[in-house]
Amino acid sequence: MIGVFALQGAFLEHEQMLSKLGASYKEIRRKEHFTDGLDGLILPGGESTVQGKLLREEGLLGPVKEAIEGGLPVFGTCAGLILLAKRLSNDENVWLGTLDVTVRRNAYGRQLGSFRADIPFEGVGEFPAVFIRAPYVERAGEGVRILSSHAGKTVAVRQGNMLATAFHPELTEDVRIHEYFLRELCHIG
Ligand code: GLN
Repeated sequence: MIGVFALQGAFLEHEQMLSKLGASYKEIRRKEHFTDGLDGLILPGGESTVQGKLLREEGLLGPVKEAIEGGLPVFGTCAGLILLAKRLSNDENVWLGTLDVTVRRNAYGRQLGSFRADIPFEGVGEFPAVFIRAPYVERAGEGVRILSSHAGKTVAVRQGNMLATAFHPELTEDVRIHEYFLRELCHIG
């Protein structure tokens, strides 16, 4: 059972990916939805400041941070990467702050606001990545494995039970990164 944060942003697309892979999920909007027994968590893309504030207002920030620190597998895409980051280079907020990276928000500027690129992804192969006002990882701590880079920038990382991408695998037809999350981090399937 995968918990999908359904406060804001592209959560439906993640749910469709999970359905395609035969995994069950539940939407998490309020504190009482965040129950024991989850095998993993997905933090979708959207607007990180809005999502972070909603998480805080719902009283979810602390419990979710603790669960991730306790080993709950988590997959953050785009805004989800920003929520997980310990440091943001162009924003004073820190939300969950569990992933040892420095992330730059809206890092590709206006002209390159949104784009597609085929990028290499370790353990998966070439992947058709969709970037939307995307962040990238400027610096990664020692325990962080870089799974994908594009044009010299780190765009996917893993640190133990945490997986994060700057792009949106859920906005493609390609289920392989979700499959990777379920298999390698959640040990499902
Ligand atoms: N630009 C958004 C932010 O900073 C992230 C974009 C996305 O999730 N597609 O929160």
